[in-house]
Amino acid sequence: MAKALFIICDGLGDRPIKEFNGKTPLEAAKTPNLDRLAREGITGLMHTLGVGIRPGSDTATLTLLGYEVDKYYSGRGPFEAAGIGMDLRHGDVAFRGNVATVDDNLIIKDRRAGRPADTVPYVEALGERVKVEDVEFFLKPGTGHRIGVVMHGPGLSAAITDPDPHEVGLRVVESSATDGSPEAKKTARILNAFLLKCHQVLKDIPENKKRVAEGKPPVNFVLVRGAGVVTKIPPFQERYHMKAACVAGAGLYKGVAKAVGFDILDCEGATGKPDTNVRNKFLRAKKAFEEGYEYVFVHVKAADNLAEDGNFEGKKAFIEKIDAASDVLLSMDDTVIALTGDHSTSCTLKAHTGDPVPIFMWGPGVRPDGVQEFGERPCMTGGLGHIKGSKVLQEILNLLGKQHLVGA
Ligand code: ZN
Repeated sequence: MAKALFIICDGLGDRPIKEFNGKTPLEAAKTPNLDRLAREGITGLMHTLGVGIRPGSDTATLTLLGYEVDKYYSGRGPFEAAGIGMDLRHGDVAFRGNVATVDDNLIIKDRRAGRPADTVPYVEALGERVKVEDVEFFLKPGTGHRIGVVMHGPGLSAAITDPDPHEVGLRVVESSATDGSPEAKKTARILNAFLLKCHQVLKDIPENKKRVAEGKPPVNFVLVRGAGVVTKIPPFQERYHMKAACVAGAGLYKGVAKAVGFDILDCEGATGKPDTNVRNKFLRAKKAFEEGYEYVFVHVKAADNLAEDGNFEGKKAFIEKIDAASDVLLSMDDTVIALTGDHSTSCTLKAHTGDPVPIFMWGPGVRPDGVQEFGERPCMTGGLGHIKGSKVLQEILNLLGKQHLVGA
């Protein structure tokens, strides 16, 4: 059976770091296993969305899983909502949301309401279904201060501005239509009414009296952003004829994978944070093949967050942690394994960049290219050359012998 394991190490690529004598965190890290996989495999540099384009993690992941951003992406909200297990229907509008603290004039006092451990009491106070006019709002607690918000009803649009002003001291923005359509105007009007209703309900709940008495900011608002309309996406198995599963810690990646039809597998110790159990994730993927899956996507998050904090030592150490777990990959020699990042994240800029990301493919049928190490510079001369993100899955399918013949 043809099998492929696709691994994204979020924010893997980087720029030269002075403290590493001009090496990147990946080049400076001791990575004997990844170096061996690169040496026995074929390597290159991958431009996720195109040369010089800075990808978001959501659009990057969607592209690398084989789906066109211009067709299937309308905002981050649907993927976040899917990632916390909310049911989405075609035409729904979904948001990323979190609880916040505002004053009586709706000025933001704390964008995360002092980061409560969870949002269960607030969702309970509001109800899991809230009706405004002919639209139903579905709410679900996410991790920590996060909350999923989905609008379901006739004639909705995601062409609206974010109510979240993204800054403390500013007033909550009254959402408005960005394209002037009646659908967008309706969506904005009903969303504004819903958010005011949430504020009215939350400001007087006993939980908040308790929080204020404890010196904590009250949880009295639901901030939403990243509106996206839920589109029909052809499932991976239908499109690429492989039974697919995902092993991830962070919600967004589970959400993207779920939206394109992957089964989401539970994995003990997968946290999406630096303390995550990378070995367990690789072992879970290995087991998934035994369970009959043919295409497994593993997402490892923390290198990206560490780079966004400017923590190059931490990023290097985390890459070494991935390497230490990669003996599991070396034990899977009947499987095509591709490993890359969704984009580069620069520790000096503390941001995603459009710099290409090193990639290797390893396994049966692969033609090794003479590259000896896994890193930004060694992979510049690799046999995959400069590969576009949209071609990565195509090349994996080719290696598996699953590509259609063009011509006769
Ligand atoms: Zn990312």
